[in-house]
Amino acid sequence: MRRFEQIGGHLAIDFVNTLGGRPEDPDDEYLNGYNDVLAWTERTSLLQPYTLADLRNAATANPELADAALERARLLRKALDRLLRANLNPKPQPRKGDTATIRTAYLEAIAHATLRPHNLHLAWAWPDGTNDLNRPLWPIALAAVDLFQTAPLQLLAQCQHCRWLFLDTSRQHNRRWCSMNACGAIMKMRRYRAAHRP
Ligand SMILES: [Zn+2]
Repeated sequence: MRRFEQIGGHLAIDFVNTLGGRPEDPDDEYLNGYNDVLAWTERTSLLQPYTLADLRNAATANPELADAALERARLLRKALDRLLRANLNPKPQPRKGDTATIRTAYLEAIAHATLRPHNLHLAWAWPDGTNDLNRPLWPIALAAVDLFQTAPLQLLAQCQHCRWLFLDTSRQHNRRWCSMNACGAIMKMRRYRAAHRP
């Protein structure tokens, strides 16, 4: 269940990692249906269980709206993906509309949000018990803007085996794999086989 792994070091990077596989040919799609968006949201604890249940019912009742929400999620992911990789090799060129896509998602998220006291601060929050199928995207859109405004993007790196991204916060900045259990283990096995080939 790789789609449930969160190794990016930031919510918005983990969201980008819902498309995995080889760097040059991404073929591991984890968001195949609207329910996958909900499953991912559940794993990241972004929504209360009863909000998830409401959204599941709303999606069953309105499959076309659910498909549209899924499409919007993938569009946001694609824009984020291109903008993030603009500083990596090889560099896919961000498209002109990518920042606009993030801005639109962010404005919609804020339009639905309220400000709630959180410790000494005020935090954006959304009322629970909504039927709006775009609800899972709101915290992701906020995280996306936070990522580009405040995250240490100089630490951004890509796994040396798959396309997953992460913030390399290791002390030596020499992290190579998304996860030692997945790509790390595969590459270790390959090296072992190559070394012990008769
Ligand atoms: Zn990997």
